[in-house]
Amino acid sequence: MSIDITANLRSIHQRIDDACQRCGRNSQHISLVAVSKKKPAQLITQAASAGQPLFGESYVQEFCDKHQQITAPIRWHFIGALQSNKVKYLRGTTELIHSVDRYSLAKEINKQWAAIEQTANILIQVNVSAEASKAGTTVADAEALIRKVAELPHVRIQGLMTLPPYHDDLEQVRPWFRQLRQLAQHIDGLHIANVSMDTLSMGMSHDFEIAIEEGATLIRVGTAIFGERE
Ligand SMILES: *Cc1c(COP(=O)(O)O)cnc(C)c1O
Repeated sequence: MSIDITANLRSIHQRIDDACQRCGRNSQHISLVAVSKKKPAQLITQAASAGQPLFGESYVQEFCDKHQQITAPIRWHFIGALQSNKVKYLRGTTELIHSVDRYSLAKEINKQWAAIEQTANILIQVNVSAEASKAGTTVADAEALIRKVAELPHVRIQGLMTLPPYHDDLEQVRPWFRQLRQLAQHIDGLHIANVSMDTLSMGMSHDFEIAIEEGATLIRVGTAIFGERE
């Protein structure tokens, strides 16, 4: 099976533009995170050559291997479930960690980035649907968590991330995206020091257009760029 990454990227950018047109947004306010988990470094290099600057990985060991192998000047986001004892391997190499859902994890990130005298950019992952199988803090607990994490000097909260339930009917997904945006607006209105709500990470291959219509600023797209994963 051969994959035309250049054509896939072009088609996704067209769909981003179309979604923006429909809802009156500027496509420059939306960044595409190419989710390359379980795909070889060679495909990442291909996507980078095709002009894709930003990649997302979900597994620490896999990320470290690729980060070492790939020489193209790309930026990395970490989007997967993260154990505190592995945070040290991400130190200084990831531009944004999307998946912070508990204080103990934020505290470890703070410690690791303090050691290199830098500040880590993070998103708080919210389990909007409260599905038992999904990571993330609840909508009800998000504010308290954010207030606590905001006190860590080497961590900066940039916004929220969510992974809603899969649904063939995209109109069933829309309310979850809307709820994340409304939560971000609520948090923004609290004017908590050290907290920005500029970034909303939501939308994947099958639902990113709906996410854009509901305010996404980062969409995380894997399959539609790289093909199905094993
Ligand atoms: C795998 C993954 C994606 C990409 O999903 P696709 O359906 O392949 O676009 C996005 N976000 C997270 C958190 C993921 O784990």
